[in-house]
Amino acid sequence: MNEKTFHLVSLGCAKNTVDSNAMAQLLQGEGYRPEQDPAQAEVILVNTCGFIEPAREESYAVLNELAASKKAGQLLVAAGCLTQRYGEEVLKKVTGIDGLLGTRRWMDILQVLKGLRSGRAPLPLYHLPDAPVVGRAPEGTHEAHIEGGSAFLKIADGCRRTCAFCAIPAIKGTAISRPVEEILIDARYLQSRGVKEINLIAQDTTDYGHDLGMKDGLATLLTSLSDTVPDVSWIRILYAYPGYITDSLIGVMADNPQILPYIDIPLQHADPEILKSMRRPANIEWVYQTVEKLRQKMPGLALRTTFIVGYPGETERSFQRLLDFLEDLEFDRVGVFKYSFEPGTGAEPLGDPVPADVKEERLAALMLAQQEISLKKNQALIGKTLDVLIEGQGEVEGGGGLISLGRSYRDAPEIDGMVIVEGDLPVGEIAPVRISGAMVYDLAAVPV
Ligand code: SF4
Repeated sequence: MNEKTFHLVSLGCAKNTVDSNAMAQLLQGEGYRPEQDPAQAEVILVNTCGFIEPAREESYAVLNELAASKKAGQLLVAAGCLTQRYGEEVLKKVTGIDGLLGTRRWMDILQVLKGLRSGRAPLPLYHLPDAPVVGRAPEGTHEAHIEGGSAFLKIADGCRRTCAFCAIPAIKGTAISRPVEEILIDARYLQSRGVKEINLIAQDTTDYGHDLGMKDGLATLLTSLSDTVPDVSWIRILYAYPGYITDSLIGVMADNPQILPYIDIPLQHADPEILKSMRRPANIEWVYQTVEKLRQKMPGLALRTTFIVGYPGETERSFQRLLDFLEDLEFDRVGVFKYSFEPGTGAEPLGDPVPADVKEERLAALMLAQQEISLKKNQALIGKTLDVLIEGQGEVEGGGGLISLGRSYRDAPEIDGMVIVEGDLPVGEIAPVRISGAMVYDLAAVPV
């Protein structure tokens, strides 16, 4: 084991990835060195996810595996949402954890390690201060994560919505926006690192600035970002909340080529009764009008959404309404999830009445319908020229030559499709390509 080394495992969403990256910055700032091999690291840090059951199972599996192979002198710290949500319950399921650190206070990682390494702190060391909200990163810590030419940049955390199926407000607390200047400092840092794409993340990006007294905070922030980092070609908005896509936001997106004509608006369902029960905006007419407005202002807009199937009370008729809605609006990208019963959420009293096989059938039916739409939209791009951010290279099996893998403005990182380009194009750069072929989710292309 190497002293002052750390092995970090980051689970869950892009926001967790950014927190993990910020904790790594703090550790390296204190002289700790990253260690790829957990067996060699003094500190093993797992930034967990506790959002839904499958994510919890994964977090427990990783913690138990690392705890089982932990050697004398090593310290295992469980951080993140599972810890925040369940606290010392986690210790009943994992033996060998030395420290617990809640997601709201990830920035206290050095304090926790100081306590653990002092040998004076009673073990396990709990650091779950009753912080009502997510804390502030220490000065100089960038709340961003770089992957090649792309980066996630956190603009806020926590959420003040009350969606009945969601545990995030209970885990993270209400929505806290990062000051504009801090975000601009991070954006300048990303530009200085040659980043070509910045993906803005929060639980709800459209709520940015409400707690800073800003009106239309996201639109204002986008304009400041665009003025501040002119060399960053793409700025992408993720996690927008229905009902908060304002005319000024649409205007800023349409008038500024740096802001991608891409927006992710999780709608969750299309049946007004189900939406009311989910405590989500249920004005379907607003969705039609807003999508029309977005497409009028940005004809090439790539529109992403997510739906939940099998929510309590969903009948064949309400599911059919969702299917019709999907076929009507023809989204570019759709994620579908089966309802996950979550104790402690507003929907808990409704139980989980929709049988698992029915949820599975409905998920499959929605995905099948979306695959037809996605293929049709991809086929319409054949012959067109698109800019692609190159993220990797490979070789066609059987010696068929080199290919490059990338994403166009229509593809957010990790969740959407890819563009497969003939030849080896420079990774981290944006290159124009002509679309030569279409698959259900991905595109084939040749360099222009
Ligand atoms: S907007 Fe709703 S679903 Fe999204 S994080 Fe907030 S409460 Fe959860």
